[in-house]
Amino acid sequence: MSVEAATETGEFQPSPAPTELTEPFWTGGLSGELRLQRCADCGHVRYPVSTICPRCLSPEATWSAMSGRGIVQSYIVFERAYHEAWASQVPYVVALIELAEGPVLISNVVGVEPSAVRVGQPVSVVFERRSATAALPQFAPRTDATAAVEGGTER
Ligand SMILES: [Zn+2]
Repeated sequence: MSVEAATETGEFQPSPAPTELTEPFWTGGLSGELRLQRCADCGHVRYPVSTICPRCLSPEATWSAMSGRGIVQSYIVFERAYHEAWASQVPYVVALIELAEGPVLISNVVGVEPSAVRVGQPVSVVFERRSATAALPQFAPRTDATAAVEGGTER
């Protein structure tokens, strides 16, 4: 993993290191798109990024822009930084985000107090630029009318 001082404060922040395989995923966010592979043979949207479809084993895929909408499937709140780069970030939320298209991403819920995050909460993707070649997809609570219709179970 490459490391760049990419934040305005000059804090140390590890950055994603795109490969030939994952580059469209990381650069998509620079254009405001959450891009995942869609199998050219069976249509399955796959994540993590892979060289073959886990459903039909086809190597053929196209990169497609997702809706960016999903729900919080599960989450935890990190109260302690396990790396110095995140020392100023705690507490922060690491969550499983179930996309409307099906795949589940491990990401962060941002733009809300950790205590306000809920399982089933509708969220939309936002991007944090980490380098010239990578933007990190994260998710923020969705408050539009669509969210009210699609809203999941709240505890
Ligand atoms: Zn397939």
